[in-house]
Amino acid sequence: MFGLSGRGGATTPARRFEVEHSEAEWRRRLTPDQFEVLRGHGTERAGTSPLDRESRKGLFHCAGCDLPLFDSATKYDSRTGWPSFWAPIEGAVGTQTDRGLFWQTRTEVHCARCGGHLGHVFDDGPRPTGKRYCMNGVAMAFRPSAAGPQS
Ligand SMILES: [Zn+2]
Repeated sequence: MFGLSGRGGATTPARRFEVEHSEAEWRRRLTPDQFEVLRGHGTERAGTSPLDRESRKGLFHCAGCDLPLFDSATKYDSRTGWPSFWAPIEGAVGTQTDRGLFWQTRTEVHCARCGGHLGHVFDDGPRPTGKRYCMNGVAMAFRPSAAGPQS
């Protein structure tokens, strides 16, 4: 298995992250759209991210702190309009229960290093994990694998 489950979502919002900035500093570092998602828990409009259609080999990095979050090998087309993956890179993301909607509990996914909001994870994904990591493309930066030998 992939070691996906945490210890029951008992994380506290006050937890400190390795990369932290003031709100003003984040606003300087991020575009308004990135800030809205990563720091404001916003959701981009479905189908607006070019990363949804990205099919090259490579890694998807956090737009906030550049941590590699997802490998293209775990990406699949969920037809939701958001980039979707069935597993993150081990240890790259954290989750916590999102009770923002009183009629629905979702599991929020954030970057393990800077705490930036990335999206949500659902239990209707494909094998082998059955998970669907539904990500905001604006919260990530894609780095294609190097075509030639690296120097
Ligand atoms: Zn990050």
